[in-house]
Amino acid sequence: MKILIVEDEPKTGDYLKQGLAEAGFVADLVRDGLDGRHQALTQDYDLVVLDVMLPGIDGWQVLRDIRAAGLRMPVLFLTARDQVEDRVKGLESGADDYLLKPFAFAELLARVRTLLRRGKGIEAEHLRAADMELDLLRRRVTRGGRRIDLTAKEFALLELLLRRQGEVLPRSLIASQVWDMNFDSDTNVIEVAVRRLRAKIDDGFQTKLIRTVRGMGYVLDAEGGA
Ligand code: CA
Repeated sequence: MKILIVEDEPKTGDYLKQGLAEAGFVADLVRDGLDGRHQALTQDYDLVVLDVMLPGIDGWQVLRDIRAAGLRMPVLFLTARDQVEDRVKGLESGADDYLLKPFAFAELLARVRTLLRRGKGIEAEHLRAADMELDLLRRRVTRGGRRIDLTAKEFALLELLLRRQGEVLPRSLIASQVWDMNFDSDTNVIEVAVRRLRAKIDDGFQTKLIRTVRGMGYVLDAEGGA
């Protein structure tokens, strides 16, 4: 799988290239919009990670030119926090997903994998447990038909629990997958996040989907518990 990274910020670019290479991808890095467009149009990529603010031409233009050339590979946009209009603009101009900066590498990797699987039409766009549904494409969660607002971390946490339904996930695994932290880090962060997530998805419902397994970790189970 070949990925093009277009990112002018040197540290971020190097970090992405190294991380994706370590995850087993062939990753090319270019640092401005013109090179990005040239590479995307002349090489055969399975996915593009595209920064918005770039020297030369910006990410919007690169994306428009990619789509105008009839190329349909997934494009993951990197955008600054709070630029809500950017996100809307990005999705309208043909971006498949976006990620807010700063992001944890694990989160980027999860999105990349999702987009690549979706690109091949294998991955379901929804994950379900009982009456809860998680829409991977729109990053939305509903339970009993009601929309639940989650933060990006809560969404990532719920996605992980859902993908591994019925499996007890240790805090250390959750820390590394969702927070990019190692085992020695403060696991209180995870307890707090799980508690908040649980309040959002389980409060007011008879079937509790997320359970704590004392001394072990957390499990999401569609059978639930009282
Ligand atoms: Ca930039």
